[in-house]
Amino acid sequence: MRKWIVAGNWKMHNTISESVRLATEIKEGITDLKNGEVVVAPPFTALQKVSDALRGSPVALAAQNMYFENKGAYTGEVSPVMLKDTGCSYVIVGHSERRKYFSESDETVNLKALKAMASGLKPIICVGETEAERNKGITEAVIGRQVRAALADVSVEMLAGLVIAYEPVWAIGTGKVASPVQAEEVHDFIRRLLVEIYGCMAEDVRILYGGSVTEDNIAELIAIEDIDGALVGGASLQAGGFLGIIGKMP
Ligand code: PEP
Repeated sequence: MRKWIVAGNWKMHNTISESVRLATEIKEGITDLKNGEVVVAPPFTALQKVSDALRGSPVALAAQNMYFENKGAYTGEVSPVMLKDTGCSYVIVGHSERRKYFSESDETVNLKALKAMASGLKPIICVGETEAERNKGITEAVIGRQVRAALADVSVEMLAGLVIAYEPVWAIGTGKVASPVQAEEVHDFIRRLLVEIYGCMAEDVRILYGGSVTEDNIAELIAIEDIDGALVGGASLQAGGFLGIIGKMP
């Protein structure tokens, strides 16, 4: 049985004090997490203080991005060593906003995923098609390319900590959540792809859905066997809404 994950991506929201307040409210609202994991991804500036605020709680810490070197002349970048130093155990890699606004490519997603795993961080690798790609009928081709590229040189032994988030770009921040059928088709496709690439069930890999998830629509998504949880943007910015999603998990 894979443990579900509900991960909150706070994006470029919240100062340090706002982040600590939100993390504290989430921590205080969580009672029992035996079947799952809750992860929060504050902005870099708040990681250390949120880590301190979460001490003693089961809520795990993620970064929203990282660079694929430990140190060096890479102005503006943050390394896996630095993230681990703040207490991160997860890192989001290849979010569509990074692909769109910051030229993140399939190749850099792969380098980051490999480096994260080699550094003891669990990558949450984001993949997803745009609305135009879905309308052209090339959703599987796009997802297939992104997943294969992200997993280049990732051995079967490295899969245990891996998380993939299927986030249709047209569903992110739009209020247009994928229907359970649309989500199921792609999650099932990714699972079959993992079997094809690795020649085994890759049972440990968790596949999250992301895109306009709220406490009102999570129940029908999590009811689908191949959906192992959610990556949540907007609805993770208020403790009530985020805890409402967590409360719907099995
Ligand atoms: C996201 O940014 O990963 C996301 C899923 O955002 P939202 O929930 O706001 O659509």
